[in-house]
Amino acid sequence: MQVKVQRIHKESTEAISERDRVVVTNPNSKYPQPRQQHASFIYNGKLHIFGGQVLIEATDASAYFKFDHYWIYNEENWVHRLFEGKCPPPRQNWAYAVNDKHLVIFGGEPSEEGEPELNDTWVLELSTMKWREVKPTSAIPRPRSFHSMAMHQGKAILFGGMFSIEGARVFDNTDYFDDLWQFDISTDTWSKIKEKNTQLKPLKRGDHTIEVYNDTLYVYGGHCQYTTPLFMHSFDFKTHNWCRHDNAMPSAQLSHVKVGSCVCGHFIVMYGGTGIIEDDSSINLIFIFNCKTAKFIRLNEYKRIGEFPCRNYSSLSYNKVDQLIYMFGGESIDYQKMDLYTSKRNEVGDLYCIDLRDFLNKCNVCGKVAEKRCSGCLDAAYCCREHQVQDWTNHKIQCKNNKVNKT
Ligand SMILES: [Zn+2]
Ligand SMILES: [Zn+2]
Repeated sequence: MQVKVQRIHKESTEAISERDRVVVTNPNSKYPQPRQQHASFIYNGKLHIFGGQVLIEATDASAYFKFDHYWIYNEENWVHRLFEGKCPPPRQNWAYAVNDKHLVIFGGEPSEEGEPELNDTWVLELSTMKWREVKPTSAIPRPRSFHSMAMHQGKAILFGGMFSIEGARVFDNTDYFDDLWQFDISTDTWSKIKEKNTQLKPLKRGDHTIEVYNDTLYVYGGHCQYTTPLFMHSFDFKTHNWCRHDNAMPSAQLSHVKVGSCVCGHFIVMYGGTGIIEDDSSINLIFIFNCKTAKFIRLNEYKRIGEFPCRNYSSLSYNKVDQLIYMFGGESIDYQKMDLYTSKRNEVGDLYCIDLRDFLNKCNVCGKVAEKRCSGCLDAAYCCREHQVQDWTNHKIQCKNNKVNKT
């Protein structure tokens, strides 16, 4: 079984202004400028990206992209567009979740230095590309950054994150969270999700990965105050039970912070991050978590130089139409190449595709090579019509949850 990673294009070499804390996108650029911690998602079969940040070397501070521009990767070209109307203010370490109609963002750190974390909610209507600031009618999660979000049945789910006490963004002076919330887009209400078996819930953390497959939330990695979180945890939205998968961990040597992730069929794909293999350098390991068997599969070996680029804070988006995962941007830190005391970081703006079709193209019923896909969700694969019919009672709920927007 083979995984292929291929670079589609190299990054833009455009310089970012060294003075401004807010980066304005140049409408004449051919490619999006290098960045990390941006949003990336697939809408109507095309990759969209916006936001993110870059380090300004001269001042050792970050500059944030304004939210009024976005990019669409369309037939081998990047097309540059404008959001209409009011947009969220620039920020870093925020989180977003996306379904077939909306993208929701929450919180993060504002671009003004020394200002506390945010807890504002914004909704982007994907059909019109217009932002709306939510005026919540209920209690809202506390301000935070480094939290994670995912979508479950049209509702945005939020877990964990951090809050720096007195604006000092130092890990020793930080509150970590383990609260679980959902945001209902149709009523603009946040609510806490009822939890059982809380002795098995994930430790308080930030910079972690969360993804949803069917009716289960998965929480993995990130960092805690005093320890490295090791286990994959899951939460069942139907029974409200937490579960800890003690036998499912890729390696005790990996901290799995700042990974790029996406859901691809019944696999959670995680790329790179920073590991303790080499200090805080970016790594290039690909792990996939099989949600049906609750097991990790490691797809490659760590090699500092090679076909797999070292990345952290890159974005992964699975395009069901061409069955490829697109990876854009992120950070490439190589501590072996630099003086230990320089914190030089290096954002990248190249686009890769990751081909996992060998994993995905297996019949849901018999496991043989499958060439047909369910037209509702494009997730379930079948070797023949008979096996699709046979699987329908089992597949229909999952199909409804994962349906593809076709416009
Ligand atoms: Zn079959
Ligand atoms: Zn389906």
